[in-house]
Amino acid sequence: MNLRDLLRERRGPLFSFEFFPPKTPEGEEALFRTLAELRGFRPAFVSITYGAMGSTREKSVAWTRRILELGLNPLAHLTVAGQSQKEVAEVLDRFVEAGAQNILALRGDPPKGERVFRPHPEGFRYAAELVALIRNRYGDRLAVGGAAYPEGHPESESLEADLRHFKAKVEAGLDFAITQLFFNNAHYFGFLERARRVGIGIPILPGIMPITSYPQLRRFTEVCGASIPGPLLTKLERHQNDPEAILEIGVEHATRQVAELLEAGVEGVHFYTLNKSPATRMVLERLGFKPA
Ligand SMILES: Cc1cc2nc3c(=O)[nH]c(=O)nc-3n(C[C@H](O)[C@H](O)[C@H](O)COP(=O)(O)OP(=O)(O)OC[C@H]3O[C@@H](n4cnc5c(N)ncnc54)[C@H](O)[C@@H]3O)c2cc1C
Repeated sequence: MNLRDLLRERRGPLFSFEFFPPKTPEGEEALFRTLAELRGFRPAFVSITYGAMGSTREKSVAWTRRILELGLNPLAHLTVAGQSQKEVAEVLDRFVEAGAQNILALRGDPPKGERVFRPHPEGFRYAAELVALIRNRYGDRLAVGGAAYPEGHPESESLEADLRHFKAKVEAGLDFAITQLFFNNAHYFGFLERARRVGIGIPILPGIMPITSYPQLRRFTEVCGASIPGPLLTKLERHQNDPEAILEIGVEHATRQVAELLEAGVEGVHFYTLNKSPATRMVLERLGFKPA
């Protein structure tokens, strides 16, 4: 179903879950199990990521089809990094042929080890150009989302410049946005206020990642630039060799974040699941949501 309509017609907050296409048959089995465990929470959509430089394009299209076959609503991520404009348009058409009605339009990161983004010689430079391509090719047939950065995108020179670029992306045709993960809701509320002040009215869904592993958290935050509040970091460091304690700290923190976001009336919450169900399930159950 088209997410623009779902967001407009929703009667309460929506939940959504993000997955990446697994590399191995065992990973695929595990993802099917995770989807089976989380589907009871009736997600508005499940999103499937697009590997760096187009590396998962076949798998991302295949998983879009599988998600539909499971009776779930896919949001297909698509990035422009490392691909020509023609290649990007072809993948877009394949997502549509597979049945996708929702696309998350992204630029993508530079390849591992590189810090500066270099566009493909015949490619796009910014996600906003992909948004424009989707609108030119499909008009309003597709719902189009984009990324938002409550703490600013790591490459942007200032929060103001980043917001200006985000506004241009919204004006290119975004229906909604999903934020980068954050661990302090003040960043999200501040961003939302700044966005509304400059006339951005689209739903901006907060992205929440329940922490389940200390080394993984350090790796992710280094790439995406999300900050970890001091007291949370101290607690995590103290228990870094105790996986059960880390899971409990992560779930407890995410539960408090989501409770406060729901209380503030957000349109929905997007969970970064890393293809695993327990932490997300624990957060939702602690908030009183029961799987059907
Ligand atoms: C919800 C979410 C999902 C994601 N999924 C994936 C995924 O599936 N696969 C993947 O590889 N990556 C994914 N990413 C990561 C994303 O690709 C990176 O964060 C990337 O570095 C930026 O992508 P973007 O779409 O935000 O780029 P853009 O919106 O193009 O912004 C990139 C940078 O360029 C700046 N900028 C934009 N327009 C202009 C302009 N006109 N002039 C000057 N500067 C400008 C922005 O301020 C920003 O600093 C995801 C991120 C989020 C938040």
